[in-house]
Amino acid sequence: MLSVEAALERVHESILAPTPCILAARDAVGQILAESIASEADSPPFDKSLMDGIAVRSQDLNRAGCRVSIVGTIPAGQVADRPLGTGEAMWIMTGAPIPTGADAVVPREQLKGGQEVSVHSPPRPGDHILRRGEQMQKGESVLQAGERLTPARLALLLEMGRTKVSVYRSIRAAVLASGSELVDPNTNPGPGCIRNTNGPMLRSLFQQSQCHVDDLGIGADREDALREKICQGLHADILVVSGGVSVGDFDLVPKVLDELLVRNVFHGVAMRPGKPIWFGIAPGGCLVFGLPGNPLSVVVGFELFVRSALRQLKGHPRSALPFVRLSLDSEFRFQGGRETFWPARASGECSGAQVELLPWKGSGDLRAFARATGLVRLVAGDYVLPAGSGVEFLPLEGD
Ligand code: AMP
Ligand code: MG
Repeated sequence: MLSVEAALERVHESILAPTPCILAARDAVGQILAESIASEADSPPFDKSLMDGIAVRSQDLNRAGCRVSIVGTIPAGQVADRPLGTGEAMWIMTGAPIPTGADAVVPREQLKGGQEVSVHSPPRPGDHILRRGEQMQKGESVLQAGERLTPARLALLLEMGRTKVSVYRSIRAAVLASGSELVDPNTNPGPGCIRNTNGPMLRSLFQQSQCHVDDLGIGADREDALREKICQGLHADILVVSGGVSVGDFDLVPKVLDELLVRNVFHGVAMRPGKPIWFGIAPGGCLVFGLPGNPLSVVVGFELFVRSALRQLKGHPRSALPFVRLSLDSEFRFQGGRETFWPARASGECSGAQVELLPWKGSGDLRAFARATGLVRLVAGDYVLPAGSGVEFLPLEGD
């Protein structure tokens, strides 16, 4: 059976590089930049005042009792009509360009007098002035491909006059919960039935990853019902079906996917939970993940495989799973024939962070999982990890 690493490699190999599209920058917030962006101009474009006050030549006010006379006003959006002469000052507003000859701004609250003013303390050259290009210089690299366009980055783009930008478009995901025992969470389950919790959980995992989600609801364990729902789901970029992928008599998902010509890449990975995971590619390019229905199998399958696929579809370079090394809070005895991803809770700050392996009753134990902040990877075997051992922790993201 495939190892997690080998299965991840197959997922990565199956994904074609996404194609970028050009969008109006203001419609592209939330998308991933497909280009790095260098500033096309200095920012600010001129030396500007950071305060409301007077623009002065600092040497004119370098001794107690010095006065300067006010010879004009520069509102924001206007340029002084002449340079500043010796002994002169001009009223200047926040954001207005510094007149030629001035080298400091004295805030209004530090002035004494009327037309002729003196100051409480002598200004130093450069006081309250933001120099041209101080924030960014023409040609300087400002945003990198692979970064998400946030509202602040949109403002930065627009400041540079970039109104169009190349981005990877949002990913469309579809989610199907398969199982004849499932009822909508709004309904009281009848005998032998349970509420569909995987569907809404998967939907929100995708939403947290900024995907558009088509929730296909529940598909009963019948070929016709599954076929109809799966056909709808194959229009997405990525379809996740929960349940129905193991070896039970009513685990019909692989058969239906096969009939719909979805090419199977792997079925089964040596891991716990989630061993029967199914992955394939539809003729139209949709990536299809079949995750075993136990809630933790769904989460582990999502965090290891679906999230890796999403990163690549969003234009990020291929990368290993983002494990961090943390220290175990107490001794732990492990016994297991498969690599295991154990619900865990991290506490403390980065370097001194500790992790607790939560008591866990198996792949259906949603309650333990609800306390988890991540998963600890435990290699197969029979061994004791002493308190303080370094373990690999995969944080659960909200990316
Ligand atoms: P399966 O993978 O279909 O054999 O399902 C494994 C276990 O997960 C069974 O106990 C199912 O009842 C449970 N299960 C399957 N689908 C869901 C779901 N959508 N929400 C909650 N539990 C589920
Ligand atoms: Mg089932």
